[in-house]
Amino acid sequence: MRATTKHTEEVVENIKELSAQFASERAERLRRRELAAADFEALVDAGFHLTGVPPDMGGLNGGIAEATRPLCEMLRILAHGDPSVALVASMHPAVIGGWMEVPEAPPPYTEAWEKQRRTVFETALNGCWWGTIISEPGSGGDSSKTKATARRASDDEPYLLTGQKQFGSGSGITSFMITQAVPEGEAAPDVFYMDMRGVPWDGSAGALLTAAWDGHGMTATQSHAMSFTDMPATRAAWPDNRQRQRMRELAGRPAGHLFTSVIVGVVESAVDAARQQMRSKRDSMRPFEQVEWSRVEMEAWLIQQAYEGVLRDVESGNGNATRSGLLCKEAVAELADSTLLRIGKVVGGGAYSRSSPYGFWLQDARALGFLRPAWGFAFDSIFNGVAWD
Ligand SMILES: Cc1cc2nc3c(=O)[nH]c(=O)nc-3n(C[C@H](O)[C@H](O)[C@H](O)COP(=O)(O)OP(=O)(O)OC[C@H]3O[C@@H](n4cnc5c(N)ncnc54)[C@H](O)[C@@H]3O)c2cc1C
Repeated sequence: MRATTKHTEEVVENIKELSAQFASERAERLRRRELAAADFEALVDAGFHLTGVPPDMGGLNGGIAEATRPLCEMLRILAHGDPSVALVASMHPAVIGGWMEVPEAPPPYTEAWEKQRRTVFETALNGCWWGTIISEPGSGGDSSKTKATARRASDDEPYLLTGQKQFGSGSGITSFMITQAVPEGEAAPDVFYMDMRGVPWDGSAGALLTAAWDGHGMTATQSHAMSFTDMPATRAAWPDNRQRQRMRELAGRPAGHLFTSVIVGVVESAVDAARQQMRSKRDSMRPFEQVEWSRVEMEAWLIQQAYEGVLRDVESGNGNATRSGLLCKEAVAELADSTLLRIGKVVGGGAYSRSSPYGFWLQDARALGFLRPAWGFAFDSIFNGVAWD
């Protein structure tokens, strides 16, 4: 067991320190195209993994109402130092939430579900990273369109999963990856997890790297595309994805807020850096620059209100936190894009240089709209969820 019992405040402080160190290496980090294992070891040492473990197992996750704010804060702060590391880190609690936020399964799955939950939490306690490679080409981020399949010869044998997957952030760092596939003989996809430890990416053990991540932003996330052929996979022990998702919503899970926290952190870094840079020029700013900067202030304020509003909904238990999270994610995706473009116009041509961080931050922030639920699917959900009366 690697992690030791820590208090939430202590973990937040540790992450502040780590993020400050990352920020001091910013120029080099923003150009990275790969993850460094040492960063993730440092995060485990800081206690981040305890957020994926319940208190009765020595962890810090006391449920959605209690754990969401500190978790989002950790990710927001971490993004100040390294957006790619923060985005990969956000996948871990987002994935473990699939077990954390579903405390009990109905018979006959009750016992098996509890056993699986404990197994998952144990791995987090032991410092394993979890990630997700659910996305499939052409699905638009809608996992109900999953084409991957899973079959098994008998009830005692593991499932074998076959399909094309992409955007597996943290590939190479993660020990376990969840994905979705349609079990043979069934109509709807379900969640499976794959033990990626020691699995080569040459196709010889079920996983073939088909495209290494080459993003304009979040460049170091190793969000690779993979082709799986008969890859051994374990199915969720309560085999009813729809009911599990429903339970997570009822528990007050704010959709996408872990991802949003990362981008809120990116915008904060950019606004702070630009404010410092513009301080000496404030009296010589042209009217256009003054107006644009005023808009930066307005949009940055709106982003903070939206971020905080979701956390308030989660903590008060009033309202629909799942919907608040979704509305916030899409609003912040649009506002972040606009804020970072305006900052570039005010800062001047230098912002266009690759020696300046603004262009990197702009591309990093753009990830939010593509993250689950991706643009079109997210707007479908917003429109379909309108309370017209
Ligand atoms: C920075 C970032 C991180 C993400 N992390 C995750 C994650 O960890 N897990 C997850 O399940 N989803 C992740 N997503 C995906 C997201 O959740 C949506 O599912 C996705 O953006 C929706 O894309 P699409 O199906 O519309 O893509 P489409 O535009 O339909 O498909 C993308 C196309 O790009 C091609 N492509 C070529 N190389 C690659 C490559 N290396 N990676 C991806 N596509 C490639 C594919 O062939 C495919 O045709 C991430 C997205 C972004 C932008």
